[in-house]
Amino acid sequence: MRKKFIGGNWKMNKTPEQAKEFMIPFVEKIKAIDRDIVDIALFPPCLALNVVKNYSEGNGLIVGSQNMHYKDNGAFTGEISPVMLESLGIDWVILGHSERRHIFKESNELISLKIKSALDHNFHVVLCVGETEEQRLTSRHYDVIKEQLESGLADITADRISNVIVAYEPVWAIGTGKTATPEDAEEMHRYIRRLFKGMYNKDIAGRIRIIYGGSVKPKNAESLLLKEDIDGALVGGASLNPQSFFEIVNSVID
Ligand code: PEP
Repeated sequence: MRKKFIGGNWKMNKTPEQAKEFMIPFVEKIKAIDRDIVDIALFPPCLALNVVKNYSEGNGLIVGSQNMHYKDNGAFTGEISPVMLESLGIDWVILGHSERRHIFKESNELISLKIKSALDHNFHVVLCVGETEEQRLTSRHYDVIKEQLESGLADITADRISNVIVAYEPVWAIGTGKTATPEDAEEMHRYIRRLFKGMYNKDIAGRIRIIYGGSVKPKNAESLLLKEDIDGALVGGASLNPQSFFEIVNSVID
């Protein structure tokens, strides 16, 4: 049995004060949620990490960064390093989000360096992969996902893979209101699991958590999460509101 994982990616939203306004009701709502069934995670912008971390003390919430540089320090204006995150007690990070890949032109090679660095620092990584609409329409979606996973994890040996979660996030579904059907998502998740069997082994393929992201809302979460190979969700827009994010978390339990 793989434990479910529901993560909220706030992207470039919420000041520290607004993060506090979210956290006060949210920690109350999730008190009764059984964490043996589901991991709940929040990925606020870096300036709000401290506030979210403080409100997470003692209630088992995972708090992570939306990105990081692969070097510990140096002349990299505007970047945040793993060492800086560690100093806040943060050891989770999202890497390879499609907004980083497409808007900020992060390559598979750069993402691979970041994954290696994150795991060297004993971080947990949510590695995002996903195809564009054009790639899907021209039937290249499987090849794109394979390439993103194989290059991203090229240096990662089997003994380190347990700290990785894969988020399948079709680019055309992110922030657009279009969601992959549960069947289409399940098909890709199965494919990813098969890839892990080839890249690592059957045991790892059975254990790796593969979550779905792309316009997950309270009304569609349950049908996605019921699928055998969908182990959770990475939620953007709907994680900004404590009630809607709670409803998505709760749909794992119902
Ligand atoms: C995301 O940011 O990872 C995401 C899936 O966003 P949204 O839920 O808004 O589509």
